[in-house]
Amino acid sequence: MDCIFCKIVNNEISSDTVYQDGKIMAFRDINPIAPVHILLVPCEHIAKVSDLDETDASIVAHMVNVANQLAKQEGVAESGYRLVINCGKQGGQLVPHLHMHLLGGRQLLDALG
Ligand code: 5GP
Ligand code: ZN
Repeated sequence: MDCIFCKIVNNEISSDTVYQDGKIMAFRDINPIAPVHILLVPCEHIAKVSDLDETDASIVAHMVNVANQLAKQEGVAESGYRLVINCGKQGGQLVPHLHMHLLGGRQLLDALG
């Protein structure tokens, strides 16, 4: 499959990986918009968050839990951070493989879009 994040998960494209387990992987965004900008993705190809239902949405809970751990490791747990999942075109999703942004290390704007 021609999916850039699947290729990162499968080590076909290198990334600055900060976390990996059997279910998800986290790596630094190639074009960071904040001092801490990490992407968390499921290892399985799931195109977008709206593809999840009650039976498999627990992957997002796991992503949140790991993002909270990474925020501590990156030193932004106290200062605060933002977790973002873009969905679809108008949601600003450019890469069609579910991912959560962990952003921190600077004052983020109030605007949500
Ligand atoms: P989206 O707009 O889909 O929510 O965010 C996609 C993110 O993926 C962007 O922040 C972009 O910089 C990042 N990105 C795109 N291609 C690559 C890549 O090959 N490696 C890494 N590490 N990040 C990427
Ligand atoms: Zn994929």
